[in-house]
Amino acid sequence: MLIKTLVVGQIETNCYVITDEATRECAIIDPGADSNAILNYIEDNRLTPRAVFITHGHFDHTMALPEVLAQTGGVPVYIHARELETDGRSASHLRAVPDLRFYAEGDEIKIGSLVFRVLETPGHTRGGVTILCGDAMFSGDTLFHGSCGRTDLGGDMELMLESLRRLSALDGDFEVYPGHAETTTLENERRSNYYVRYANSDFPDQ
Ligand SMILES: [Zn+2]
Repeated sequence: MLIKTLVVGQIETNCYVITDEATRECAIIDPGADSNAILNYIEDNRLTPRAVFITHGHFDHTMALPEVLAQTGGVPVYIHARELETDGRSASHLRAVPDLRFYAEGDEIKIGSLVFRVLETPGHTRGGVTILCGDAMFSGDTLFHGSCGRTDLGGDMELMLESLRRLSALDGDFEVYPGHAETTTLENERRSNYYVRYANSDFPDQ
């Protein structure tokens, strides 16, 4: 498995391209902007995109979808259905996707030999998901290095804490690839992330 990080757009969103090196098939996570950078990477490496996975519907994670789809033969785009219910304005360009599919808790999608597993992790948005593939965790705007996604734009802090608790309770360690800023590990976040520790009630009640 090869993971390429492309930092795209003004809000510096992480778009990831995950490739099965044996077959050169790939998945694209969160094409938020800068479709040229994404498409150039795919073309330069002679990759075959098979799917787009959306961690959540915010514009900075989805705005390059039309261009990417136009150049990749309309691959299926997966998103949680709740992302289209909550915000009509941001959902309009998602509804225009020709092959839009809904994934939910426990779904597994295969790309070559890679298996992507979906965990529902609401909080930043109602239909936010985290995607696991091998020892990689694509956490969208749920878990960040030393932080978590904001919950003041239609999100819910109680749901966020529950999601952080869930992620931190997974067995073993993962490389965490968040929606913004740098990569981390789950173990590092279990130890040092204030929000994860708070979610696990490491702190006494105030
Ligand atoms: Zn967001």
